Amino acid sequence: MRAISLLGATGSIGKQTLDVIRAHRDAFRLVAFSAGRNIEQARIIIEQFSPKVVCVAQKEDADTLQSEYIGRVRIVSGEDGLIEVATMQEADIVVNAVVGSVGLVPTLKAIEAKKTIALANKETLVTAGHLVMKHAADYGVPILPVDSEHSAIFQCLQGEQQKNIECIILTASGGSFRDRTREQLEHVTVEEALKHPNWSMGAKITIDSATMMNKGLEVIEAHWLFHLPYEQIDVLLHKESIIHSMVQFHDGSIIAQLGTPDMRVPIQYALTYPDRFPLHIERLNLAQVATLHFQKVDMNRFRCLQFAYEAGNIGGTMPTVLNAANEEAVAAFLTGQISFLAIEQCIEQAMERHVPIAHPDLETIRAVDRETRQYVKSLHM
Ligand code: NDP
Ligand code: MG
Repeated sequence: MRAISLLGATGSIGKQTLDVIRAHRDAFRLVAFSAGRNIEQARIIIEQFSPKVVCVAQKEDADTLQSEYIGRVRIVSGEDGLIEVATMQEADIVVNAVVGSVGLVPTLKAIEAKKTIALANKETLVTAGHLVMKHAADYGVPILPVDSEHSAIFQCLQGEQQKNIECIILTASGGSFRDRTREQLEHVTVEEALKHPNWSMGAKITIDSATMMNKGLEVIEAHWLFHLPYEQIDVLLHKESIIHSMVQFHDGSIIAQLGTPDMRVPIQYALTYPDRFPLHIERLNLAQVATLHFQKVDMNRFRCLQFAYEAGNIGGTMPTVLNAANEEAVAAFLTGQISFLAIEQCIEQAMERHVPIAHPDLETIRAVDRETRQYVKSLHM
């Protein structure tokens, strides 16, 4: 029986993680979880899974919930609460499915508490991959990828040796606007951007997919997870999202992982690794699919991907700036304050003015994150 702490239980990945736990009640139990502001959903999860500790974002919501579950569940709040859920003594695995760099400190604390980390929260690795990976190595804790591309690479690498990798190829669906020209992107709406052709996901990552920043964040995530330089990380447009990513080896052989697009596959693999459990999802029928398409990425059309490669290569605090600027710009787009193309302008401006600091510690990362957010907010005030 594996005991699971789930950060971000009310989100898209969180809900699908609960599906996986529900499907294997004999193998998994939920001992703690966090929600943000969705208290209604938190109540439902408490009733269904009877966890011991629950964190919500706001103190007032925690007080309300605590009065309803006196003596049954411990309710906590804020960053301290997230850390409590992430380090809960009983938990074996921490699934980090919160969105944004708010997931960083809980991940570091979970590593210190020697929890296995199933990581969906890519912003954590983008903003401070060097700290997370060093911490994981120091404490001997595995970081298991949940992101579908990284799970694919991880699966392709089973039984393989790092030294034999020539490159990895991350596939990209191209998001909601993959067939539009740059001119056509001028006036796109939030509603249009939120319509992803292949995946149903949280709002932030759906916008990241439309700008292709999601793939940029994934390039940096892959750099840290698989210890590869950026020259060995390629991106390929593949609109069907059937091949989830591939590894090319020195002998020219390519190993790929395929399947119908369903996040429960990589989530469950992270929870059962190195084992595999049955999963009742639609099977891939290649005869029916018949044709798969691939296309080179146009770095001028998808400038955010270019920014991510630049930030990754510069290193230090630059990826922190990339991530924080993107989080703020996407939030501003979602609330109608800026246009779609202004997202990349915010990121470009934030990166241009930043003087990167090499080997930043946690305090420096947090300061740069805060400062970048303030700067981006000031751009559209
Ligand atoms: P959602 O927006 O659907 O869910 C985010 C979760 O985080 C919710 O539980 C939300 O709580 C909580 N949350 C948001 N802000 C805060 C905060 N400030 N403090 C504490 N909790 C907070 O996101 P997704 O599930 O789509 O994505 C989660 C992560 O997984 C992201 O990093 C994303 O990039 C990554 N990912 C997602 C994929 C997907 O298919 N969705 C695929 C691959 C990676 P509440 O809703 O209660 O406010
Ligand atoms: Mg992905």
